[in-house]
Amino acid sequence: MKCSICNKKIEKTFLNKIKGAYIIKNSKRHAVCSECQKKYKDNISQKIE
Ligand SMILES: [Zn+2]
Repeated sequence: MKCSICNKKIEKTFLNKIKGAYIIKNSKRHAVCSECQKKYKDNISQKIE
């Protein structure tokens, strides 16, 4: 799983959750890493776990 903003690999926690968030954009699901989630949190309005 890669971050759709910076293209870095997103790590997973031991619970198999990604270290980041999923966003819905143009009705597609994208994953973003935790760094980009922080950086762009104002632009990431639609977030799902
Ligand atoms: Zn990123």
